[in-house]
Amino acid sequence: MAKRVSDAPGSRRRGTPRSCYNGPVAMVGDRDAALRSTLFARLDALAGTSVDRTVRSADVNKLEVDGRTFQVIGQSGIRRVAGLDAALSFTTVFRAPGAARPYEDGIGPDGLLRYKYRGTDPDHADNRALRRAMELRVPMAYFVGVAPGVYMPIWPVYLVAEDRARHEFSVAVDESQLLVDLDHLTEDRRRWVERTTRARLHQEQFRVLVLRAYDGTCAMCRLRHPELLDAAHILRDTHPRGLPVVPNGLALCKIHHAAYDQNIVGVRPDLGIEVRADILREVDGPMLRHGLQEMDGGRLVVPRSRYNHPDAAGLAERYEDFRAAG
Ligand SMILES: [Zn+2]
Repeated sequence: MAKRVSDAPGSRRRGTPRSCYNGPVAMVGDRDAALRSTLFARLDALAGTSVDRTVRSADVNKLEVDGRTFQVIGQSGIRRVAGLDAALSFTTVFRAPGAARPYEDGIGPDGLLRYKYRGTDPDHADNRALRRAMELRVPMAYFVGVAPGVYMPIWPVYLVAEDRARHEFSVAVDESQLLVDLDHLTEDRRRWVERTTRARLHQEQFRVLVLRAYDGTCAMCRLRHPELLDAAHILRDTHPRGLPVVPNGLALCKIHHAAYDQNIVGVRPDLGIEVRADILREVDGPMLRHGLQEMDGGRLVVPRSRYNHPDAAGLAERYEDFRAAG
């Protein structure tokens, strides 16, 4: 278990492998606070008007506060602002499907998101700015790249601990996670923290990436209204391989998502669509006829990039589930 950093006045921070920062929280200057609250108001406005809550860097990147313009998304991934000690934002860059990310930001054993240092030098100016943000407990914005120049912003987030050996910070992606005592984490609480992180980060990112991969179109009926579309799991999220990644996803409208989850509609590994026999025999109105029965014998529309195609093994396993339900 991590050692707690002493918060006694004048005590030196010990070089613990993973230091939960519980030191004194310093006052943040007016300019710093004004910049952050202006940024969050801008993100509220921009993300609120986008169906998948993404923002374009061109729209968010020039922030005016007191007549000065600030850049919000840093080229290195970590954004420092001249005159302020604490970083304003950090970014996970977009990589085309199939390309590895330069840093693997994952979830730690305590359920919190990890964010890697820039490089490995803890005293690099960018890493110092992140550490200062942790010490000041200032709210930050996290930008997850989902396409070139397009980001899924998450705010406010907070850095709450640092692991110098692994070159990473722990991130609370939700204000409720700030209340968790990381030094005395019960298994129940740890699971809750992980669930919150996954919901806030992975599920939202899953929806954004799947809808983009399918060009905002239902893979079964071609409905092109992103506000009526979901990212459906092929292997369910309770399945060990039911990961929130595009090859385990299908962009489906609300009705086809529910029908797929309920095994009313199935997809074969060759992408053929089948409707369950008892549903085909039913007689009812236009939603049953056009919305469900006419899907039978159709073919799933898949993304152009083969990296985004639904995984054939996942489809096969899921199709067995559908067959068993029939
Ligand atoms: Zn549909």
